[in-house]
Amino acid sequence: MSDLMTEEGFAYSFNPKACETCQGRCCTGESGYIYVTKSEIEKISKLLDIDVKLFVNTYLFKKMYKYSIKEVVYENSHECIFYDRDSNGCKIYDARPAQCKTFPFWDYYKTRVDELKLECPGILDD
Ligand code: SF4
Ligand code: SF4
Repeated sequence: MSDLMTEEGFAYSFNPKACETCQGRCCTGESGYIYVTKSEIEKISKLLDIDVKLFVNTYLFKKMYKYSIKEVVYENSHECIFYDRDSNGCKIYDARPAQCKTFPFWDYYKTRVDELKLECPGILDD
C-alpha cells in the first residue's frame, strides 16, 4: 500500500517518509511566520502545562494582529523554537498549529511546485 499523501486540487503527492531524513527543513532555514490562532494557543499551553499568558509572552510575538511562534538562530538557520534537533521532531507535535499540519498542501504552493520542491524533499509529481 502506498504511503503517499494527496489532496484534491494539488498536482503533487507527498511522501511522509522523507521527514525521517530531511532534518526539518519546513521548521528551519529561512525566517518566516508560524501563525497560531487563539484556540491553538490554548491547546499548546495546555500541552505544555503552562499558563496561556506565560506561553504567549515566552514563545510568541505579535505580527500585525496575529501571533507567530518565535524562532531561534542556529548557525545560519532560523528555527522554530519548538523544533527539536536531537529528535528531528516537533516538541508540540500533538498540538502543532494548522499551518504546520497542512504543510505541504498550502494554496500558495498550488502554482509554485518547483519552489516547494526546493524546500521539501518529499514532494513528487503526480
Ligand atoms: S520539509 Fe518536507 S520532508 Fe522535510 S520535514 Fe518538512 S514536510 Fe517533512
Ligand atoms: S510548531 Fe512544530 S511543526 Fe510547526 S514549525 Fe514549529 S517545530 Fe515545526
